[in-house]
Amino acid sequence: MVYALLISDPFSRAASSVSIAFASLPTTWQYAFAIVFGLVIGSFLNVVAHRLPVMLERAWRLEMTEAAGEPPKDDGLPARYNVCVPGSACTHCGHVLRAWENIPLLSYLWLRGRCSACHAPISIRYPLIELASGLLAALALANFGASGTALAAFGLCATLLAMSAIDIQTRLLPDSLTLPLLWAGLIVNFADTFVSLRSAVAGAIVGYVFLWCVYWLFRLARGVEGMGYGDFKLLAALGAWLGWAALPQIVLIAAVTGAVIGLTATWLGRMRFEEALPFGPFLAAGGAATLFFGMPFFHLFGG
Ligand SMILES: [Zn+2]
Repeated sequence: MVYALLISDPFSRAASSVSIAFASLPTTWQYAFAIVFGLVIGSFLNVVAHRLPVMLERAWRLEMTEAAGEPPKDDGLPARYNVCVPGSACTHCGHVLRAWENIPLLSYLWLRGRCSACHAPISIRYPLIELASGLLAALALANFGASGTALAAFGLCATLLAMSAIDIQTRLLPDSLTLPLLWAGLIVNFADTFVSLRSAVAGAIVGYVFLWCVYWLFRLARGVEGMGYGDFKLLAALGAWLGWAALPQIVLIAAVTGAVIGLTATWLGRMRFEEALPFGPFLAAGGAATLFFGMPFFHLFGG
């Protein structure tokens, strides 16, 4: 009944005619469009990754000062500060980027990785995220064809990319990303898009509970905290998108890649052995790999 309502509303009809028009384009055009779309979204993801932690910290400070009955302090940021306003600016000198300095990937190459006003180096992270986003959009198109499923798959990847960038910088996986991603997974699978709704709900529950158990086992046995509650919520979200059966593979990929990268970084002297890597990017990589390449291990054992 609800699904019948969903497909009959004008928005869904408009969306389906857009997807039919897109599917009728030549393949090279489809890929060109997907890559450009991915690059533009990647540019937005950079803004989200940079500003969301600042916005959360500001909200937290405001709550603290309000609770203490103090007047709000000036934090040097504009009164309106969110992912849309103010316009992007150099993080060193505050130079507001002109349109031609804000073109994904190209502006970085053009400016040779330096701000046009103060010549401070621009982090390589920005073009890398844009490039990754463009490639993920192409991969979604290659895997799922010109369809709403491809768009949903890219939406998952884009959110994982923003979360990974935030986790690497701040060691946090904000609830304002993990929880909507979990809901989105359940909604997308309402029509059995990637897995059945049953498997999605089970995935959300098992994903959270599994990492929660691992966390407490480690904490009780060795007194260490290898991960945080954000990681449980992220695995719950991946379970909601990819189903409970995908969870062992996601955790396995995350643990193995995390261990290999952690040991390599220690060996190269870039990190001390006791230091913990953020786990979110590895879970995200496990999720994206499972989304695109399926579950060869699962089928190996007769699944
Ligand atoms: Zn500058």
